[in-house]
Amino acid sequence: MYNIAIDGPAGAGKSTIARQIAKRKGYIYVDTGAMYRAMALFLLENHIAPDDTERISQKSQEADISIIYENGEQVVLLNGRNVNGLIRTEEVSNMSSASSVNGDVRKKLVELQQKLAKEADVVMDGRDIGTCVLPHADLKIYLTASSEVRAKRRYDEMKARGDVCDIDVIKKDIEERDYRDMHRDISPLKQAEDAVLVDSSDMTIGEVIDKIMGMCG
Ligand code: C5P
Repeated sequence: MYNIAIDGPAGAGKSTIARQIAKRKGYIYVDTGAMYRAMALFLLENHIAPDDTERISQKSQEADISIIYENGEQVVLLNGRNVNGLIRTEEVSNMSSASSVNGDVRKKLVELQQKLAKEADVVMDGRDIGTCVLPHADLKIYLTASSEVRAKRRYDEMKARGDVCDIDVIKKDIEERDYRDMHRDISPLKQAEDAVLVDSSDMTIGEVIDKIMGMCG
């Protein structure tokens, strides 16, 4: 199996790039953030506070998260329900970064991710793919961009969906989320030693894709 790992902070363009690379290579795209988001949605629906570690550990075991592919797109199922349309809100973003510090949540989702990568050629994006989930990935990319550029991209994405949003709030959320993701005890976001750093601040999507395609075996 050929495994490509793409890690980086929020809004660096990981999912857009990973999806395109997977399409060109004929691989499966695995969006691990969507799994943490589905778990966060489950916890929110059960009225669990982001800092209630004990209840998060307990309740997360009742969430059956799986993914299927429909017309080439990843669909996240939460206890059998398609939640793709519910997991992209700021509320879910913030809860996912808070609940993903939990070791029981991570153990459950990492097992699922490793199983997927064993069964197929994948492009998998997230925070800990190169460092923890797929330490032997054939190619590891650490994709980043300045927080201004990332906030602007998220803002454009949300506006295009018709969501009301404030760019300063988005920037603040992104910076807080990055801080939590980079400073947590278990599997913090960091560049793997053997990952290639790609800063997309001044690059187009096409340029980033070409650069990564040039590195694939
Ligand atoms: O990538 P995305 O923004 O959808 O991820 C949502 C949150 O899920 C991140 O802020 C991070 O806290 C968590 N996450 C993680 N490990 C991953 C993917 C996402 O902790 N592999």
